[in-house]
Amino acid sequence: MAETLDSILAESRDRLRAAGIESAALDARHLISGLLGLSLAVLMVRGGEPISATNAQRIRAAVARRAAREPVYRILGEREFFGLRLKLSKETLEPRPDTETLVDCLIPHVRRVVARKGSCRIIDLGTGTGAICLALLDAVLEARGLGTDISEDALATALENAQRNGLAERFEALRSNWFEAVEGRFDVIVSNPPYIRSKVLEELEPEVRLHDPAAALDGGDDGLDAYRAIALHADRHLETDGVIGLEIGFDQKQAVTALFEAQGFRLRGSAKDLGGNDRVLVFKRDVE
Ligand code: GLN
Repeated sequence: MAETLDSILAESRDRLRAAGIESAALDARHLISGLLGLSLAVLMVRGGEPISATNAQRIRAAVARRAAREPVYRILGEREFFGLRLKLSKETLEPRPDTETLVDCLIPHVRRVVARKGSCRIIDLGTGTGAICLALLDAVLEARGLGTDISEDALATALENAQRNGLAERFEALRSNWFEAVEGRFDVIVSNPPYIRSKVLEELEPEVRLHDPAAALDGGDDGLDAYRAIALHADRHLETDGVIGLEIGFDQKQAVTALFEAQGFRLRGSAKDLGGNDRVLVFKRDVE
């Protein structure tokens, strides 16, 4: 009997379920829709249509990778973040929906700066795919961004993502270890740095442990190394009324706040992620 979308979908789901993947049905749908370039809705209504042997083979190969715990979007090579389609590569963290919270928190600040000055300069430290910076540039036309990363592979990926999303004219990439190679001041400093304690890295689920780059996760012994490096030099690179927006680990609000307070900043806002954990902190200079 000829294979149909429905039959390969059911086969894929069963194979992922047998491999112990909890989100088997959803993952099968996402993989097939991504590989065939069909929306999830189209996949549903066209379920009875036959599929070619080549496509069936591509799907089976992808399902085998997922069964071995590679994340869906690593297999597809790209994922959506804040409405942008972003390419992933070996040395970039896969952008998480929780990180969209950070973008949400910063858009009003970027708009305020633009209203006051006509433009806004953003720096995204450890930009990876460029996700945070590109989402802000996409949301606010007058903003310009600099993405830094220690990885050349990440910088190339961020530049490609800027190009793909029509943001290349307003985005630059710089190889830098946090602020080391950075010059000048910015209206918004943003970062989702590595914040996992080295010791607990090996406890992470295989999708993260084996497929996200360790350099994007490992925050050192107490998980705070990157925040320390950023806090130490932030004053030199922040405009007078600038803001610093950071993603943090669920239990780091107090510790990160203390680090920035020690350098003359004050917590101006915070937000929780989709799971209700503290995830975003926003600092300003402690002036008044
Ligand atoms: N949110 C990621 C995770 O839970 C960690 C990202 C980071 O260290 N910045 O795996």
